[in-house]
Amino acid sequence: MSYLDIIPGTEWGFFTLPRPMCIAGPCSAETEEQVMETAKGLADFGIHVFRAGIWKPRTHPGSFEGVGSKGLKWLRKVKETYGMKVCTEVASEKHVLECIKYGVDIVWVGARTSANPFLMQEIADALEGTDIPVLVKNPVNPDLDLWIGALERLNRAGLKKLGVIHRGFSTSAPIPYRNDPGWKMAIELRTRYPEMTFFADPSHMAGNRKYLQELSQRAMDLGLDGLMVESHRCPADAWSDAQQQLTPQDLKTLLESLEIRENTSDNAAYREGIDALRARIDLIDENLLKLLKDRMDVSLAIGRYKKEHNVAILQTGRWEQLLGDMVKRAAELGISADAVTAIMTAIHDESVRVQNKVLEEK
Ligand code: PEP
Ligand code: MN
Repeated sequence: MSYLDIIPGTEWGFFTLPRPMCIAGPCSAETEEQVMETAKGLADFGIHVFRAGIWKPRTHPGSFEGVGSKGLKWLRKVKETYGMKVCTEVASEKHVLECIKYGVDIVWVGARTSANPFLMQEIADALEGTDIPVLVKNPVNPDLDLWIGALERLNRAGLKKLGVIHRGFSTSAPIPYRNDPGWKMAIELRTRYPEMTFFADPSHMAGNRKYLQELSQRAMDLGLDGLMVESHRCPADAWSDAQQQLTPQDLKTLLESLEIRENTSDNAAYREGIDALRARIDLIDENLLKLLKDRMDVSLAIGRYKKEHNVAILQTGRWEQLLGDMVKRAAELGISADAVTAIMTAIHDESVRVQNKVLEEK
């Protein structure tokens, strides 16, 4: 596992608790009025980090590809007028240099760019010597190492204020969302780097505002730090991603509807209760290990017996019957077929490995 030298968001100076910290703003900066009016609507209820795409990576050429550098002046005006921090997407050295020139506070790397090591290196080199916070969206394809590699390149260039934005993965599977949430990968990354600031982007995950609430709630239930949500003064008129944006007012309603459970609690009674429950789990796990060891010993004996009688190790009929029985019994106990199949397959694989070793014995 690679080591990342990261300064947590709580030390960036503008990161807020309690969760969720919310970064909001339109998919794209379109006009000065649209940017200023949207920022005002958001600042009015306490959003203090404003997002807007200035250069837009679009699937088809000829779609609106962003207003370019002139939009950075509008972002500067948002900073000056409302005291918000501003952030935008960068995908090249030129974008980075322009952002530095106009005092952009935070940059993010989009999903199409984090998937490309050449571009990531170009961006990292351009950012070297600054301490701008960089948020890296997951690559479009579910490749955790590629995502981590992008963070490593930034880290090697001396950038330590690193965070991630989970926006889901491209998929051809028929799902209601624009992207497959793939929460498993987010949890994996979260577990490896618990100190890294972690946002979810329910807007690009959903592709449609009707799913924003459930995805935002899910992100909070998983203990993620914040949300990046697209908000536009008039979503229906948006020049990009019209279906997934919310008015500032609707965003306020959404944020107020979220149920936030604490990641942990300092409450003494809670600590006592959780410690007792964890002690029970530890004991059960210890017993599980002992049982597994007993099972492996019997496996070994079976292996030797089969060898003596010149019988093949893998008896598929017996394995299928055993698994079928276990799935049935598990159902009676309320344990899912998927779970028991995964557990029994792992145990059986180990059993076969142990028995195969017997064959190597002289
Ligand atoms: C965006 O944030 O507007 C954007 C283009 O997102 P993504 O890179 O996640 O597609
Ligand atoms: Mn967008």
